[in-house]
Amino acid sequence: MKITVVGTGYVGLVSGVCYAELGHSVICVDKDPLKIATLQNGDIPIYEPGLQELSVRNAELGRLSFTSSLDAAVKGADLIIIAVGTPPLPGGEANLAYIELAAKEIADAMEGNPVVAIKSTVPVGTNEKVRDLIRSRTECPFDSVSLPEFLREGSAVPDTMHPDRIVVGTDSPRAEALLRELHGGLGGAFVVTDIRSAEMIKYASNAFLATKISFINEIANICEKVGADVTRVAEGMGYDKRIGSSFLKAGIGYGGSCFPKDTQALIQIAGHFDYEFKLLRSVVEVNQGQRFNIVRKLEAIFGDLEGRTIAVWGLAFKPETDDVREAPAQEIIGELLDRGVQVRAYDPIAMDNFRSHFGGGAGRVEWCSGALEAAAGADAVCLLTEWEEFVSRHRRRGLP
Ligand code: NAD
Repeated sequence: MKITVVGTGYVGLVSGVCYAELGHSVICVDKDPLKIATLQNGDIPIYEPGLQELSVRNAELGRLSFTSSLDAAVKGADLIIIAVGTPPLPGGEANLAYIELAAKEIADAMEGNPVVAIKSTVPVGTNEKVRDLIRSRTECPFDSVSLPEFLREGSAVPDTMHPDRIVVGTDSPRAEALLRELHGGLGGAFVVTDIRSAEMIKYASNAFLATKISFINEIANICEKVGADVTRVAEGMGYDKRIGSSFLKAGIGYGGSCFPKDTQALIQIAGHFDYEFKLLRSVVEVNQGQRFNIVRKLEAIFGDLEGRTIAVWGLAFKPETDDVREAPAQEIIGELLDRGVQVRAYDPIAMDNFRSHFGGGAGRVEWCSGALEAAAGADAVCLLTEWEEFVSRHRRRGLP
């Protein structure tokens, strides 16, 4: 199969590389010439375990290539996958500008009779709008598919090669057959729905996972008051198959490029149809408050934090990734700096990304080259990302 993936971010790059690994001929396109040059040189612009080896291997086998020329990449493709970003607008709605631009460029270059699939997370109704947009610009026949993505950063390659489910929203039997063939060997459920339901499955899944996190965080807050141990409570709950043990880890709340934006977007989607999603509003509110608990706890111990030195271990929004988008560390470090704290920070992978995302505040943080260096002489250590090197250090009680 000839596949073109538009957008080589965390989703597009992993998908493209994995489809090549399945034996297909894949061209990955991105607007960012620096990303493309990096990829053409055999490097990858993100940290994702196992991805670089697969990328290099498939490029060497001639099944995978990278280009910034969408026009050439789209011509002759059997399947065109849109995997560009849908970041939040200030009001919480998904910004569809990148999707629309990609759709226009695809429409203007398309030939043959391709299937056009959107992997980006998009509000219900977007696939139909994009189909109309493409139709308004080309005579070329094509079929539309909503193909939401469920990979997790940090385990994106195994998640893609061994998915729990593939969701395909389409009204085209031909497109369904093509996607069934593409994912045939991967295992997992193959769920075919109408286009709108597929779009909704993605938002509903992320909203549900976010709800679990906020739920256990509220249980943790109550546990602290009543003298129970939330870790044991979560363990005891998790054995119940109806509940499950995943996403029951209390902490500083969720971050990242998906949960915060997708929960807000679903609240907006519901609102457009005069439905107030009260439960999800509370999930977001709980999450926002939770990340500041750690600052409140420090104040409960030290009183005024001015002049204290506090080490921060972990800056990425989760372990095994360099992604710092909406990472709780950003707001927590901001709060500490506002209180006159000397912050000493370390992350095994995400330091550079964090520094560039943190803007002006970066100059006020002391960036350390190791966990122990950050902790040396500090009044407290805040563990903000559960990287294995921190967790195992804690387990071994190797703290200074
Ligand atoms: P990203 O920001 O890492 O990557 C998007 C890429 O698209 C960028 O490299 C950008 O340069 C490129 N791009 C934008 N417009 C383009 C155009 N017209 N032509 C070519 N390239 C273009 O985003 P991401 O994290 O990969 O997420 C992509 C989508 O997938 C989003 O809708 C996101 O919500 C969804 N999603 C993300 C994850 C995740 O874990 N990151 C998981 C599931 C779904």
